[in-house]
Amino acid sequence: CRVIVASASSRALEYSHSATMGKTPVIGLLGGGQLGRMLCEAAGPLGYDIAVLDEAGCPAKQINANDKHVTGSFKDAAKVRELASRCDVLTVEIEHVNTEVLEEIATKGVRTPSGELRRVPVHPSWRTLRLVQDKYAQKEHFRAAGVPIAPQMALGEGELLPASLKEAYQNFGFPFMVKARKGSYDGRGNFKVNGPEDFEEVVKALGKLPLYAEKWVPFAMELAVMVIRTENEAGDCTGVYSYPTVETVHEDDVCKTVLMPPRKVDAAVCAQAQNVAQDVIRSLWGRGVFAVEMFLLQDGTIMVNEVAPRPHNSGHYTIEAVPYLSQYKAQLHAIMDIVPKAMQLAPRCSQAIMLNILGGAAPESHDKLVRLTETEYVGGTDTYLHLYGKASKPGRKIGHITFTTPSADVDLEATIAPFVNEVDLMRQ
Ligand code: ATP
Ligand code: MG
Ligand code: MG
Repeated sequence: CRVIVASASSRALEYSHSATMGKTPVIGLLGGGQLGRMLCEAAGPLGYDIAVLDEAGCPAKQINANDKHVTGSFKDAAKVRELASRCDVLTVEIEHVNTEVLEEIATKGVRTPSGELRRVPVHPSWRTLRLVQDKYAQKEHFRAAGVPIAPQMALGEGELLPASLKEAYQNFGFPFMVKARKGSYDGRGNFKVNGPEDFEEVVKALGKLPLYAEKWVPFAMELAVMVIRTENEAGDCTGVYSYPTVETVHEDDVCKTVLMPPRKVDAAVCAQAQNVAQDVIRSLWGRGVFAVEMFLLQDGTIMVNEVAPRPHNSGHYTIEAVPYLSQYKAQLHAIMDIVPKAMQLAPRCSQAIMLNILGGAAPESHDKLVRLTETEYVGGTDTYLHLYGKASKPGRKIGHITFTTPSADVDLEATIAPFVNEVDLMRQ
């Protein structure tokens, strides 16, 4: 049988003539939540078709009608193959996907409707997805690449777990973190162990999963940097480009706000965070945007917490703050291997704050906050509401608001206090 190698970069050339030739590149997306929805919002004006593999009516499909979507789970190999057979390149909005089938599609190929076996590029690489799925392995990889991470150790499974928890205490002292190696998000799968009295609870809550322990990091602040990674056909990294350093504020392990720039952090520290983030992403494989979550310690030291190989909550602000190349546009351009000669990711505003909207106790709990975005006008500040088309459930991310101002002098935090107050009221 014939093998056709579909190369994203040769396609980029081909599609640069798409206006005259009428050929629209099709990007296959595993997962159709809010990140997929915002990717589709960016893709429309750029002339890309996005075929989404997820449930019917998911947030990304709601705003993106085409006949190439696949209904089903992005963990189902047959469905991923079906999606790939319709696409020029595959990407993801979530890292918890089936990497075996992605490896098969990228290296051996997928059967197209006409019976040919055709390789479809996967970006970021299945290799990166497989590595970051295991948070312990991910950080061991970063350590080997010379990137600073918190001390960590793998924990024994089953009957071996209690003894290895004691060993973790001997290594790290209390408190320390126990984390599920795989599948976690928004802190689900994390357990702060304050003393031996918590051991039984950890075993009960997480004992069935592969776990690791991590030294507690008494950070001053959490930082994040989005990085664009480009790569040539041979798989060599051809560039890493970072967006501004932002501060991320978590409440109950869920991101509440993102501030650009971070509060009271020297420009040199922000630049250092960008450098660390670039080193981290250089050590991975494939094209696209990546989030690097970091801890900033009191003494100015930076440690990497984890990487998300995709657009990320901490990069939502780029839609308005870096409008000519938001993290979503960048993802589309990078995976299609469209790389400008020079990339300048400077923001078009002096300050931005992103505020997440989490579902409240009742389905309509967030209505008042939404009304505020329509009525509360503060001179010099722009307010951008994003609702994701998701049913509201307590604690679920259902939207976000980005505030921007061109002024470096405005107290943006004070300006948006009524909105934050409303978010706090919704949590009660
Ligand atoms: P995400 O939704 O970002 O994928 P996650 O479930 O993978 O989250 P982590 O990023 O490991 O979880 O941790 C969530 C939050 O818990 C961090 O942002 C930080 O606030 C806190 N945290 C994690 N590890 C540590 C640590 N070693 N010391 C102190 N706090 C920590
Ligand atoms: Mg995570
Ligand atoms: Mg995290």
